[in-house]
Amino acid sequence: MSDYGLIINGKKVFSNNTFSVINPANERVVAECPIASKEQLNEAVSAAAIAFKTWSAESDNIKAEACGNISAAITEHAEELAHLLTLEQGKPLNGAGSRFELGGAAGWAGYTSTLSLPVKTIQDDDNARILQTRKPIGVVGSILPWNWPLMIGVWHVLPAIRSGNTVVMKPSPYTPLSTLRMAEIMNECLPPGVLNCVAGEDELGQWMTEHPDIQKIIFTGSIPTGKRVMSSSSATLKRLTLELGGNDAGIVLDDVDPATVAPGIIEGAFLNNGQTCAALKRLYVHESVHDELCEKLTEVANAVPMGDGLNEDNLQGPIQNKMQYDKVVGLYEDAKANGGKVLCGGNIPDEPGYFMPYTLMTNVTDGMRIVDEEQFGPLLPIIKYSDINDVLEKANGLETGLGGSVWSSDIERASDIASKLECGTAWVNQHGPIAPNVPFGGVKCSGIGVEFAEEGLHEYTTIQVVNVTKV
Ligand code: NAD
Repeated sequence: MSDYGLIINGKKVFSNNTFSVINPANERVVAECPIASKEQLNEAVSAAAIAFKTWSAESDNIKAEACGNISAAITEHAEELAHLLTLEQGKPLNGAGSRFELGGAAGWAGYTSTLSLPVKTIQDDDNARILQTRKPIGVVGSILPWNWPLMIGVWHVLPAIRSGNTVVMKPSPYTPLSTLRMAEIMNECLPPGVLNCVAGEDELGQWMTEHPDIQKIIFTGSIPTGKRVMSSSSATLKRLTLELGGNDAGIVLDDVDPATVAPGIIEGAFLNNGQTCAALKRLYVHESVHDELCEKLTEVANAVPMGDGLNEDNLQGPIQNKMQYDKVVGLYEDAKANGGKVLCGGNIPDEPGYFMPYTLMTNVTDGMRIVDEEQFGPLLPIIKYSDINDVLEKANGLETGLGGSVWSSDIERASDIASKLECGTAWVNQHGPIAPNVPFGGVKCSGIGVEFAEEGLHEYTTIQVVNVTKV
């Protein structure tokens, strides 16, 4: 038995079946997580379906107020949630870590409360009145990853309930505890059944995508799983928003000042230890500034203190789980075996915990695994180039298209090149900033649909036209 419970119909529900959640900083067990049975998933979906009838009919003010109250409740419990998040996810309390994530979660929830879905008048004259309304879809299934579990949880849940849907959410098996607790806290602001939270292994996600009474899936995770979600959702023709993996290119032009751009590049690459969907994952540097920039990047990367995230001094934690750690170390070893040169990092501590210092590698090229595959960890390949057209072709040459960036002291030149990147967000002289009023999503295999802003809210609705003839 665990202290942590599933949240079904406003109540904490336990399960005799559990699995251990591991702290990646020391490989010790944080706590046991309940595993939802198929029956419990059915109970959660049916509670959400019943709650939908009343929640979807509630006034707009009530829904907006609930989102505002959730924002305040997250703020009130931020310290408790941040500690739990650091314990199971590994990210440090400080820097762009757990406290930052909780601040973002509360901020996004608050902003979502201010969004609205006005009725659009398409025609209103002597002949006809044609109104377009946006209606909630029904029960939304939210399937979460382990990198930013609470912030992404808010991104999924808040627009869903703001627009009148009800939700069954499922955290990643690597980081379920903080999400279960956050769902419990959110439930204090909502009628029973509006938000349910079930935990379990991957098969639980699959059951959700097959469930006939879930009408939409919002999924954030890897491309291969996203394809499985799309395939198994097809039998019931669910609406889908898929936020998937990226392998973002950053292109440094010949006119940069290396000392000026180095901190932003390191931040863009190693936000959340590189475990960020839209982190900078391939850095293309013009040959004229390559060596000097490598030197500056090394200085910045070496200055970041690494260790257990509960220690207030640390700004880099471990890689979140063993599977991901093995993958990142594998890419590093492969690059080294193929002639890659280690500028800094690489020296992996021989002690418990999945630690790897910020690692920069040069003398690598497209075609090597470290460049072509999403590393999703503290490992950045730096590729020297001479021709901008050639590098644009390489930047656009993969199946992914989430973000990208161009770095230059000439912002017009950089913006022009940025507009040629095949990606959802192209940044100039920065990489990664997102905001609740700016739509975010991937193109190509990085996803379908967008999150945030009104465009994100629309994804949780279907259009109904009411067409009245007056003749
Ligand atoms: P993952 O795909 O392994 O798992 C994501 C979720 O899917 C988990 O909750 C998992 O239990 C569930 N799942 C697994 N198999 C399933 C199935 N068959 N059907 C339904 N659900 C299933 O991803 P991850 O390792 O947790 O996250 C890392 C990946 O997510 C990276 O590729 C990263 O780039 C991507 N990501 C993307 C964004 C974005 O907004 N684009 C944000 C964060 C992470």
